[in-house]
Amino acid sequence: SDAVEVRDLVVRYGAATALDSVSLRVAPGEMVALVGPNGAGKSTLVNTLTGILTPASGSVVVRARIAQVPEGRQMFGDLTVDDNLRLGAWQLRGRGKSRRKQRDTSWVYELLPDLVRVRDRKAGGLSGGQQQMVAVGRALMSRPEVLVIDELSLGLAPLIVADLAEHLTELNREQGTAVVLIEQNARLALDLCSRAYVLEAGRIAAEGDSADLAASP
Ligand code: ADP
Ligand code: ADP
Repeated sequence: SDAVEVRDLVVRYGAATALDSVSLRVAPGEMVALVGPNGAGKSTLVNTLTGILTPASGSVVVRARIAQVPEGRQMFGDLTVDDNLRLGAWQLRGRGKSRRKQRDTSWVYELLPDLVRVRDRKAGGLSGGQQQMVAVGRALMSRPEVLVIDELSLGLAPLIVADLAEHLTELNREQGTAVVLIEQNARLALDLCSRAYVLEAGRIAAEGDSADLAASP
């Protein structure tokens, strides 16, 4: 069954309807893009998936462990990279793994080797691309089955985005982690993901195979 299943979701801010009858699913291990212009409702949808927002109606079923890379990365700037990573493990407390194992960051450095040489530096002093890597690594520390990434490419140079995208593909292939990419940059998201949803003014305007959607006007 699907890792995430959203049906007929309606979310309102006061009298304003931000999401109107949105349905979406994420299968285990797939890469899905959620694209749409500013104000379309992407963040609202993500925040409903992760439980931050409560829908007015509709259903959200999350059968997998989900972690979010928040828009804007949200580093603890005065803490080191390694400390930032370990903070990502807090959600695992009480889940049976030993504390030492929970806090082991070594596998994250294997996946994101660019972080090795900055592991003891304060996160606040890093470049935007490095901070985005830390944000991804921190989310991975909770061992998610579904990784939701809000605006991966925001403010980053194309080469850095390509590098991050490669790491995500690797993560998806090697660990089977499902990735949901929320992007204004539709080209990037459609390139990276096999399936996509286009959100416009709170509604799903199109959905399907990324290649088909990229080819349509
Ligand atoms: P996106 O992430 O695609 O840019 P959002 O989910 O942030 O879109 O916003 C969807 C709509 O909901 C927009 O019209 C936005 O102005 C509105 N909105 C978002 N957050 C709030 C809020 N806290 N209060 C009122 N309106 C909001
Ligand atoms: P995004 O589009 O990625 O959601 P925004 O810059 O639109 O980012 O929103 C930043 C913050 O402002 C969010 O917390 C959002 O909920 C809030 N917000 C957005 N639109 C409105 C609005 N019309 N009224 C009140 N808060 C809003």
